[in-house]
Amino acid sequence: MPSPDEATTSSTPSTFKSLGLIDPLLEALDQMGYKAPTEIQSESLPYALEGRDIIGVASTGSGKTAAFALPILQKLWDEPKGLFACVLAPTRELAYQISQQFESLGSAMGVRCAVIVGGMDMPAQSIALAKRPHIVVATPGRLIDHLENTKGFSLRGIKFLVLDEADRLLDMDFGPIIDKILKLIPKERTTYLYSATMTSKVAKLQRASLSNPVRVEVSSKYQTVSTLLQYYLLMPLKDKDAYLVYLANSLAQNSIIIFTRTVNDAARLSIILRTLGFPAVPLHGKLSQSQRLGALGKFKSGGRRVLVATDVASRGLDIPAVDIVINFDIPTHSKDYIHRVGRTARAGRAGKSITLVTQYDVELIQRIEKVIGKKMDLWPTDTEEIALLKERVNEAGRVAVNELKEQVTKGGNLNRKRGREEIGGGRDDRDRDDDVVEAGMPVRNKRSKKAGRR
Ligand code: AMP
Repeated sequence: MPSPDEATTSSTPSTFKSLGLIDPLLEALDQMGYKAPTEIQSESLPYALEGRDIIGVASTGSGKTAAFALPILQKLWDEPKGLFACVLAPTRELAYQISQQFESLGSAMGVRCAVIVGGMDMPAQSIALAKRPHIVVATPGRLIDHLENTKGFSLRGIKFLVLDEADRLLDMDFGPIIDKILKLIPKERTTYLYSATMTSKVAKLQRASLSNPVRVEVSSKYQTVSTLLQYYLLMPLKDKDAYLVYLANSLAQNSIIIFTRTVNDAARLSIILRTLGFPAVPLHGKLSQSQRLGALGKFKSGGRRVLVATDVASRGLDIPAVDIVINFDIPTHSKDYIHRVGRTARAGRAGKSITLVTQYDVELIQRIEKVIGKKMDLWPTDTEEIALLKERVNEAGRVAVNELKEQVTKGGNLNRKRGREEIGGGRDDRDRDDDVVEAGMPVRNKRSKKAGRR
């Protein structure tokens, strides 16, 4: 099997016009405020516009969505008939974001998109598919469901297939479903495969789905961008909540994402913050799909400045202009750290990340520093101010515990993994996140199955 061609880098800075994009797209790019192509866009577009298959090694934040959407839309302008492209994404949120970008970039062309994801009404999706969209953006499970059960719907005419975040698609065991889908689409097509990391599974998928591809790589596996300033903050475990509130207080003018490892902490901390007057909203996999989209919408529109999220939100979500990422817990995998802090300092902007480190986390933070090849700086704190905060934070903590208990009594139990059917009934509920659902403080390093089932 021949290995993919490596893209050769051009030293002249490109513009969208010099890359050969057509006027309706240039107009849309101008309206969206995209002044110049990002690296992945200027590297991949010349090949994509030539009609080549592309392997893009790039993570969220690099501008990869436009890198695959623009050549598809350019071709659609020439042949505007029927269902034209299918984009597979690992999560519902990412699917909605991709569709929004297609709609914005294709606004001058009247492009029609349909989002086909689990947890949403199947008949309504069948109607959307019957309206003959140009682009279908889907999570694999629900797509195969429609391919097998929705009369009149097929992908036999598509010209483009995009596998976005392929590493994550495969991590979520969508491999067999993708194999099925590959059998139901034409061999004569253009394929784009984007992945943040090139694992052996991704390489296998690449061999099965692409022909004579060009490989474009813009960042190595584990890298954080240079505009990101990374800090840590040391504290005893028992004072973590107070330190977090101190940070929220001193950074109140910023948009902030706080990442927690457990659903319980995301729910608890957002109540603590709200009780203390911070506009916080939780985002985790135990919320319904509409609650998740609602939370994200409030945060994106600036109605809420603080998002408290589990790792469900750390990948793939396009949340513009986040100033600060706070890691309430250190992710056990360095890869997750990179994804989390990738929510800030995007597309050339500046950003900061602050990681809370307790006496139990020193080894973990050192491991992350090794992987990113950078030493983090200590975030300065005012210990007197934190001491003064403690009582109010503890009181808010009690309010949160009571509120969560009430939710449990009402049936919204956060401390128990829910069965598939309880979450919308969609067959591809695997596109839910794998949130750790534990009561109380997180278990460090190793996840305790016992604790997870309490
Ligand atoms: P993505 O990696 O596709 O998730 O894109 C990350 C963010 O960068 C999104 O908010 C895009 O709207 C934005 N973006 C993509 N391309 C450009 C560009 N050429 N100039 C400015 N922003 C961009």
